[in-house]
Amino acid sequence: MIPDYLEEVLGNVASDATGELAGYIPELAAVDPERLGAVFATVDGHVYSAGDVDAEFTIQSISKPFVYALALADSGFDAVLGKVGVEPSGEAFNQISLEEGTGRPFNPMINAGAITVHSLVRSEQLAPDERVARVVRGLSAFAGRPLGVDEAVCASEMENAHRNLAIAHMLRSHDILTEDPRIVVDGYIRQCSVLVTTRDLAMMAATLANRGVNPLTGEQVVAERVVRQVLSVLSTCGMYDAAGDWATQVGIPAKSGVSGGLIGALPGQIGVATFSPRLDSHGNSVRGVSLFERFSTDMGLHVMEVP
Ligand code: GLU
Repeated sequence: MIPDYLEEVLGNVASDATGELAGYIPELAAVDPERLGAVFATVDGHVYSAGDVDAEFTIQSISKPFVYALALADSGFDAVLGKVGVEPSGEAFNQISLEEGTGRPFNPMINAGAITVHSLVRSEQLAPDERVARVVRGLSAFAGRPLGVDEAVCASEMENAHRNLAIAHMLRSHDILTEDPRIVVDGYIRQCSVLVTTRDLAMMAATLANRGVNPLTGEQVVAERVVRQVLSVLSTCGMYDAAGDWATQVGIPAKSGVSGGLIGALPGQIGVATFSPRLDSHGNSVRGVSLFERFSTDMGLHVMEVP
């Protein structure tokens, strides 16, 4: 049975205490490092879980694919692709590098791309707080329940946002951003500070796996064409600078975040989410990566394998 399997696999990785908490956001360095959870959400609405699946944590970079979906839905493909590419950068998430000539960020999963994508939700004319509200509503629709923002984490990250501000100022100098960089970074950090549970993340991933329809609420959150774009980008750029290793060893389109969450979405099948806060040198959850490696092998979930 799947619940027994999940308990067993969680037990297998539980003793691994390697890795470090994300230290650059003080509030994140204060979380309980032992938390561990995993959830499977199938496209037909079954949810299987084990461990700390209802503990809340901030979504961080796992917001990026979903907000990319909202930007594509709101501004259209041409506008978004004109400003943010889809090439893996092979660099760390917060690298200050932009495409030569155009100044475009390489892809929407590195911070430069994600900050730009945030600015493309609705139009740039939308007042910043309305844009954040649209982002939170959109993330909530993917999760199938109303989500809120962790103000303490948000304030803690804002105080230490020098690098993201530097990236945003670079984007402004290339006219990729056309508004005040501080306002966009503020909104982007609020986006990263949305509180979710592992269960929420699995439902969000299942919505991607289910052609953009939330399996529980039945809401079509974004169009199928948007989902194809998002999953394609996840399969090449979702795991920071470990994306190639991930694609070969695990083979599930996935996204991780510095608070320790990890999601994977297999089209037509399942959304998977894990939570464990200690990170490896790429910024990916150590035990989360181990869990996904096991899920992929034990259940034959690698997209390049014939089921
Ligand atoms: N808010 C974080 C940042 O922009 C997200 C990073 C992450 O989860 O990778 O630095």
